[in-house]
Amino acid sequence: MIIGPGAVIEDSPEYTAQVRTHEMTHVAHFRRGIELWDAWLAAGHPATFVAWLERQHDRHRVNEADLRTSRELATGQLLTTELLAPLEAFLGHYHALPVGAGHEESLHQLTLVARGFGARDDPVSIDVSRRIIDYAATLDAPHRAALDQLVQARAAVPLELESPAFWWGLRDALAHRTGASHQPEAVSH
Ligand SMILES: [Zn+2]
Repeated sequence: MIIGPGAVIEDSPEYTAQVRTHEMTHVAHFRRGIELWDAWLAAGHPATFVAWLERQHDRHRVNEADLRTSRELATGQLLTTELLAPLEAFLGHYHALPVGAGHEESLHQLTLVARGFGARDDPVSIDVSRRIIDYAATLDAPHRAALDQLVQARAAVPLELESPAFWWGLRDALAHRTGASHQPEAVSH
């Protein structure tokens, strides 16, 4: 993770704010991982860090997301942190940006979520979907319409590296929420 001059664009504070949220989410994951690493050392470093971490998770002392992002710190394979960092960037900024060119970076963050999305029964990915669906319900009409448009386009033709299941699940959930509760039934005269 690098925060450097490339992440700060003076005439685009929105872009800068989102990149900062994305990168600071990584920082929070790594900080938590180091905390757990220290706890492992303090416990006399029984077994390997990863084995100890998995046992803490089995005993419900470490949640699933912390288990994975901390394990990634040890293995160097950054998967869950690259799912959750763009999620926080999207949820933190999309609603606050004017619809149009200004929010393209937010929608880009959502496509990064689609790349990191796991299997249908993956608990962290299920939580990611739920958070996006709950968030969508809070958006004003123009933001919601722009989001729906992106989701429908990607669900129709998912790009390589993106999880089609992510877009399909989101499309179905968003259609269900608006369709059922807000649209009047079709009336025939
Ligand atoms: Zn990242």
